[in-house]
Amino acid sequence: MKTIGLLGGMSWESTALYYSIINKTVKQRWGGLHSARICLVSVDFAEIERHQHRDEWDEAAEILIEAARSVESGGGDCLVICTNTMHKLADTVQAHINIPLLHIADATGRALQTDETSRVALLGTRFTMEEDFYRDRLEEAFGLQVLTPDVRGRAEMHRIIYEELCRGIVDPGSRKTVLGIIDSLRAEGAEAVILGCTEITMLIQHEHTDLPLYDTTRLHAEAAVDWALAS
Ligand code: GLU
Repeated sequence: MKTIGLLGGMSWESTALYYSIINKTVKQRWGGLHSARICLVSVDFAEIERHQHRDEWDEAAEILIEAARSVESGGGDCLVICTNTMHKLADTVQAHINIPLLHIADATGRALQTDETSRVALLGTRFTMEEDFYRDRLEEAFGLQVLTPDVRGRAEMHRIIYEELCRGIVDPGSRKTVLGIIDSLRAEGAEAVILGCTEITMLIQHEHTDLPLYDTTRLHAEAAVDWALAS
């Protein structure tokens, strides 16, 4: 088994999910007392969030590169950045390390392609929903048509992620808001929903909607296990 390198802390609430899903998946596959070989480096999310909202992406990249190098020198055989948003810097980080970065949008795109879904709603931070780095990868590499909420819906999603979910707050009122956003996207033709922020799975699960959900946290964590056990 290879060692999975995790770059976490963005937020730690979802990194804890990665740690749990990865270990449970290894246990399911290999049984007994098996668990995953993991090297985790976790950053201080307050610093990252400050740089994001001040548009200081070079400064954020410095933090991620240093952490990614620590993962590599600590024995990680691959790099898993435990957030969708910070994949904005995926190419920059990859250029500074010698281990492969397992991209979260690839794990997600593959699952949608396997299920032959083509029109999909994307929920996440403003960065993920509004910029090209994520949507383009899904559209160009996997032939998906990506729908995002309207301007109010995007603002609400962004607020719920930073003010609630990344602080561990799961509010039933916010669940209703997000389910309303999902219903509007369904009316526009969405056949499925990408939970494109690694904390949304804390708020929205399969029992809350009959639209298929693509949970990027789980898909990314399972892709890491596939990679680690196949090698
Ligand atoms: N974990 C979130 C994501 O998947 C948001 C936190 C961040 O900005 O990294 O996008």
